[in-house]
Amino acid sequence: MDASYDIVIIGGGPAGLTAGIYASRARMKAVLLEKMVCGGQALTTDTIENFPGFPDGIKGPELAAWMTKQAEHFCLEIRTAEVSKLILKKEQAGPFGVELADGHTLKAVSIILATGAKWNTLNVPGENELLSRGVSYCATCDGPLFRGKDVVVVGGGDTAIEDALFLTKFVNSVTIVHRRDRLRATKILQERAIANKKIGMCLESVCVEIIGKNKVEGVKIKGVNTNKEKTLKADGVFVLIGLKANSDIVKSIVKTDEHGYVICDDDMKTSVDGIFACGDVRRKLLRQVVTATGDGATAATSAEHYVERLKGMEYPR
Ligand code: NAP
Repeated sequence: MDASYDIVIIGGGPAGLTAGIYASRARMKAVLLEKMVCGGQALTTDTIENFPGFPDGIKGPELAAWMTKQAEHFCLEIRTAEVSKLILKKEQAGPFGVELADGHTLKAVSIILATGAKWNTLNVPGENELLSRGVSYCATCDGPLFRGKDVVVVGGGDTAIEDALFLTKFVNSVTIVHRRDRLRATKILQERAIANKKIGMCLESVCVEIIGKNKVEGVKIKGVNTNKEKTLKADGVFVLIGLKANSDIVKSIVKTDEHGYVICDDDMKTSVDGIFACGDVRRKLLRQVVTATGDGATAATSAEHYVERLKGMEYPR
């Protein structure tokens, strides 16, 4: 074992960084492991308008940088490291081993999992190139930026239809592009979408390219049965084809739901004593920076109580 910690936080998005701020202020021996750059999905979000305290909104990367700075200010150790495996004792409890991809192994009294989730992508030309320049994976975050514009929503599930309805509050028109002849979304959402004059549908169609030089200008779609291609003029494209939890390292250890999201109680405790989860990786209603930070604070406080209990330092609350 290379080093021993009270709390090992895995993931450096808003949930992990907030957990780090709370753990450091509680004077826990804590480390945050992030495989790339701290900030999570905020790094790819142009403007965040719904995080309290910023009436004019704040650029995602700027908010991420401030959060990282705040964690460093409280002397949180942040390491660039990828976790390859968690090692548990036979009785499924701590202390845990945290095996890193570089071959080192850390010892952890408790673990906070803050590994987030990633949006499924279409993997078509233009999608990556025009990310944050009209291509979005989050209508709640970016919808208000498309006031009076024409947008395309790709997908036919609850998220796509609910978000298409949400978008009609701002945009001029929404065209839903869905690969099958019927939507997957709950019937009541379908009814609302059909009744909404701002929403049009291209069913049995797939998006084959997102077009635009510096920003999205349109979407090339192809008929599934006809193979005929046509271009829809659009200022924005919302790709809403499901999310995938980054829970691979704990899937066989803690309880997850059918989509791979980690199941926690209100205190962010997972099914294994000493392992906590926060942010987008856990099963929850709303995946936003504001909910991630709340989760992170709770997870760190729960981990602190757990560590104190193990060390016999618990005090009455
Ligand atoms: P989802 O239910 O998995 O639906 C994904 C949609 O994207 C499906 O319509 C699917 O098409 C389509 N799709 C997947 N891959 C695609 C691809 N490569 N190209 C084109 N289309 C593709 O995901 P979700 O809508 O994000 O919902 C996830 C879960 O959260 C669901 O259980 C949902 O019920 C739940 N949810 C609930 C609510 C609510 O209750 N208010 C709101 C949001 C989400 P097919 O239909 O052809 O497979």
